[in-house]
Amino acid sequence: MPSAQLTPTQLTDLSQLLHHRHRDLSLAVERELHADGTTEMSVATTSDADWKAADVEADTFIAKAARDSIELSEVTEALDRLTDGRYGNCETCSKDIGYSRLLVHPAARRCLPCQKAAEDKGDSSHGSSRRPR
Ligand SMILES: [Zn+2]
Repeated sequence: MPSAQLTPTQLTDLSQLLHHRHRDLSLAVERELHADGTTEMSVATTSDADWKAADVEADTFIAKAARDSIELSEVTEALDRLTDGRYGNCETCSKDIGYSRLLVHPAARRCLPCQKAAEDKGDSSHGSSRRPR
């Protein structure tokens, strides 16, 4: 059963959002991975300081690529749920997530209270960009 709360129009809107997001992220990830493979850092003779700067740059870059590919898989999962009618239901309490939340986070898997509870427990699977430092 598809979510009772979302109208067909709302589902179409969210589906379009997800498809756009999916395309943008696919392109971004592809570009990032490609660029990563062709880094020319090794060519120039660089001072120690330059190496450190390049290191930080690569770090940021990898972090962004990682974030994008995580989001891409979340969007892909959301599109799967859209296809089999589970979209819009919280995966924890199976209540409706709500259109306004989905508009902001089309790939959301949980309603806001469940998402908060999960984050409190340390499950940061919804792309919170915590960087180990
Ligand atoms: Zn919930």
